[in-house]
Amino acid sequence: MAATTETATATRPDTAWRDEIRRLAAERDAVLLAHNYQLPEIQEVADHTGDSLALSRIAAESEASVIVFCGVHFMAETAKILSPDKTVLIPDARAGCSLADSIDGAQLRDWKAEHPDAVVVSYVNTTAEVKAETDICCTSSNAVDVVRSIPAEREVLFCPDQFLGAHVKRETGRENLHVWAGECHVHAGINGPELAERAASVPDADLFIHPECGCATSALYLAGAGTVPAEKVKILSTGDMVTAARETEASSVLVATEIGMLHQLRKAAPEIDFQAVNERASCRYMKMITADALLRCLRDGTDEVRVDAATAQRARDAVRRMIAIGQPGGGE
Ligand code: SF4
Repeated sequence: MAATTETATATRPDTAWRDEIRRLAAERDAVLLAHNYQLPEIQEVADHTGDSLALSRIAAESEASVIVFCGVHFMAETAKILSPDKTVLIPDARAGCSLADSIDGAQLRDWKAEHPDAVVVSYVNTTAEVKAETDICCTSSNAVDVVRSIPAEREVLFCPDQFLGAHVKRETGRENLHVWAGECHVHAGINGPELAERAASVPDADLFIHPECGCATSALYLAGAGTVPAEKVKILSTGDMVTAARETEASSVLVATEIGMLHQLRKAAPEIDFQAVNERASCRYMKMITADALLRCLRDGTDEVRVDAATAQRARDAVRRMIAIGQPGGGE
């Protein structure tokens, strides 16, 4: 393991680094959680990998007093909301999310003031402040069910993802659903013509769409619109995607999501040719959690994620209402 120096020499994620990470994690009584879009070395050293909600639930059930969340900031906040008595650390607090940043608490309050009787439904890719202003959270797996649970005559404000919102509007046929125009920068690389062209170029391939991060919601929308043949399209949570990789008879699979997901899939089914629909679909925020950052986090106990108690309580209520309605999806 190379030393971390003032000149920011990158730490090699070698065996010595891995041993040191595990030693420090044990010393701190920390559980290491890694989102599927993390760098391979981070996924490999973690105790658990998965999507944000599944990881937050694992965090809440863990005996460890410290949660190290290798993902982006809103995910670590969600873990803190669900585990208020635990210390939650993120290796680099600058790891944001362009989708979560599409709307802040003040903007949502202004929007609510324009529609005072509306029910607010927010995708889990939101800050704690936005969740606290929300009536019911949703994931892409249960967004349609969450909106269907709301009486037909009530207006709905859906934020922040415009693709997921358009998908829900189409599925429910609901005219009184207003959609915030937010988006994830990564999804821009997964557009309709490219998706159709890639599917046509590998005609026998399955198309896996993992919808738990905003980067794939455009693919979800396009698949629903018939841009690619419906029989090829498999909309799958993390756990289901890995299971489908083991079970499919296809020799090639196109994966429409952030490219970090390929690591888990290739491990699960090395004989299958997994190809990214777009190789550039890489989240720069996710990749800010480096070997150096994780080492620093465990050595120094930084960066701690804090959510004030009142905000956390309101945000927790919005997440719990979602769980009460139905399957949030996104299993391990
Ligand atoms: S891939 Fe998109 S939605 Fe997911 S963390 Fe990155 S910016 Fe946010």
